[in-house]
Amino acid sequence: MENESNRLDMFFLPLVLQGHMIPMTDIAKTFETRGAKVTIVTTPFCATLFAKQIERVNQLGLEFDIQTVKFPSTEVGLPEGWENLDAVAWSQNQAELLDKFWKALSLLRELVFHILEEHRPDCLVADLFFPWATDVASRLKIPRLVFGGTSFFATCVAGIIALYQPHKRVSSDSETFLVPHLPGEIKLTRTQLQEYLRQEVETEFSKFAKQIVESEVKSYGSIFNSFYELDKDYADYYRNILGRKAWLIGPVSLCNRDTVDKALRGKEASISRHECLKWLDSKKANSVIYVCFGSLTKFNSQQLVELAKGLEASQQDFIWIVRKDKSEEQDWLPKGFEERMDGKSLIIRGWAPQVLILDHESVGGFVTHCGWNSTMEGVCAGVPMVTWPIFSEQFYNEKLVTQLLQIGIGVGSKQNANFGVGADVVSGDDIVVAVRRVMAGEEAEEMRRRAKKLGEMARKAVGEGGSSDLDLTSLIEELMQHKAARESK
Ligand code: UDP
Repeated sequence: MENESNRLDMFFLPLVLQGHMIPMTDIAKTFETRGAKVTIVTTPFCATLFAKQIERVNQLGLEFDIQTVKFPSTEVGLPEGWENLDAVAWSQNQAELLDKFWKALSLLRELVFHILEEHRPDCLVADLFFPWATDVASRLKIPRLVFGGTSFFATCVAGIIALYQPHKRVSSDSETFLVPHLPGEIKLTRTQLQEYLRQEVETEFSKFAKQIVESEVKSYGSIFNSFYELDKDYADYYRNILGRKAWLIGPVSLCNRDTVDKALRGKEASISRHECLKWLDSKKANSVIYVCFGSLTKFNSQQLVELAKGLEASQQDFIWIVRKDKSEEQDWLPKGFEERMDGKSLIIRGWAPQVLILDHESVGGFVTHCGWNSTMEGVCAGVPMVTWPIFSEQFYNEKLVTQLLQIGIGVGSKQNANFGVGADVVSGDDIVVAVRRVMAGEEAEEMRRRAKKLGEMARKAVGEGGSSDLDLTSLIEELMQHKAARESK
């Protein structure tokens, strides 16, 4: 055990949501590998979701500590036990429950303060969705780092839209507007923006979004799951023009080097890694397209039918992660689909070991909703993507993938719809076209070459002396200086 005064004592507070907890756990692991002592603060239910992953980290000798805090579900009128966003996202009265959910997050404030007060760590890394964390940390005189879970590109686009409101100067929802001041000629439509930006009146969420930005500006700085070579122009813009402090320490998923670590990310997978690898091993290189829409998107039956038709017509081997229960399936799967696709497809109902799959050489393309983790994981795997953004900042990420990095083809989704509820249906015909363009032909080969190069750059960035490795070192040094200054007082 290292001398405690030479060791950073770090607390991590992830949002109770897979897409934020997974990268935060990877980040915690990365800091621990560099000698920090790590504690994760989460709810009892979320702790169980990550039990296997945490057990594995501990087996590797890295010893994560977990502090649980009761999620105030009932206090805000949410059903008992609703501790993470999945439950809320897939409920009937989503909008009302979401407001309650954000409120519950704010009630965690004093509970977390008391935990921190008792332990007095050297630093708090808290998710963007806890804007109060900056004040809590400053009361205890410790730096608060923000983790937002997205790219510099998307953060800059969101910041510019909030500041200059270019979407208010077009006459219809479908007319494109230019995102001013940013490099890259980024054009969007109003329908691609999150609902709260499209509304004329202030809503609970728009007030919350303002608090998030204010707390980010007041914080010690932000850490990004990205790497300089990928996000260069926008990292420079964020740091130099917006004047905010930030470190790029990704891609964070690359800290999972072997198949066991890759398979254990997030929830327990619904398929064993052996079965999954056996199926992938039986396929030729770059012959399989992997279809997954992250942890929150849920399509209606009509969309699922179109997707099934599109995949079948593409004649491509595929792995498809389906969120619907088997009991609901009879309603929507085209007749005889599974029999016809036998041998050509692997349908996983529930949770897939995504990074394990993407990194396999037989996977040659990725149909993705452009969640930032999935996008980065696709980049690391060096696969071109069919981009199918659904909600949040995913439409911005799509622009990065298709227009700036040129490693993807859009399927043509146009409507930003929370978790997919109320989204326009993308037709099977449009899906076939996009899948074919990404999987075969000269255009696909060009994209694959670019994607592979980016994947290599990603690995270099986190390797010794790479850009992310150096940024991480400088952040750790700064935090150590802060700790020393605090201890000498
Ligand atoms: N993921 C996974 N298996 C699944 C679905 C998702 O491992 O079946 C992981 C995926 O690898 C990524 C995260 O869950 O790390 C999803 O994050 P993302 O930002 O892509 O999307 P979100 O779920 O936040 O919409």
